[in-house]
Amino acid sequence: MARYTGPVCRLCRREREKLFLKGSKCETHCPLEKRNYPPGEHGRDRSRQGSEYLTQLREKQKARRIYGVLEKQFRNMFEEASRQDGITGENLLRLLEMRLDNVCYRAGWGVSRSQSRQFVRHGFVTVNGRKADIPSMRLRKGDVVTLTPHAKDLAVVEESINRGIRVPDWLTAGEDQRTVEITNTPLREQITTDVREQLIVELYSK
Ligand code: SF4
Repeated sequence: MARYTGPVCRLCRREREKLFLKGSKCETHCPLEKRNYPPGEHGRDRSRQGSEYLTQLREKQKARRIYGVLEKQFRNMFEEASRQDGITGENLLRLLEMRLDNVCYRAGWGVSRSQSRQFVRHGFVTVNGRKADIPSMRLRKGDVVTLTPHAKDLAVVEESINRGIRVPDWLTAGEDQRTVEITNTPLREQITTDVREQLIVELYSK
């Protein structure tokens, strides 16, 4: 499965914004604080001013990077969102939130989406009692995601859960916090990702 494997801090530098791609490490050591300019030889020379197109492009890139989705997949999700009823930008964010790796992240099992994705790939979770190892798997209302007995006791999972991250309202966590049920599809106001989705819609609608 294709995915970005380069240095992730470079992605934040490109967006000139902390995207928190490394979870708790981002709180303590962030290269963006010292080098808040895009990477590359001419990074420092790049102006912050840009065209409308550039602003829209950067917003789309930012969303892709936050959720760890490659261009083609992202574009396909946009197409799907635009076919659905309702506001396309919100539909797109909803589709991104309902990915299995994101749900594991929102459940607090991984400190970042990339760690949660790794848990899924390693077969640490089940969906409705069945093994699920595809991070992009689309979940639906009523689905129940559970850590496997092996994963439940892993120190890395324990540490992550002990951070006490609040599970969003559209999810309901089990008592031991090793299970979450998708009790609703998320509303826009329940999605805390800092993305201006309208700019993405404008970009793809050109
Ligand atoms: Fe981004 Fe985190 Fe790296 Fe800072 S430490 S640049 S927020 S991934």
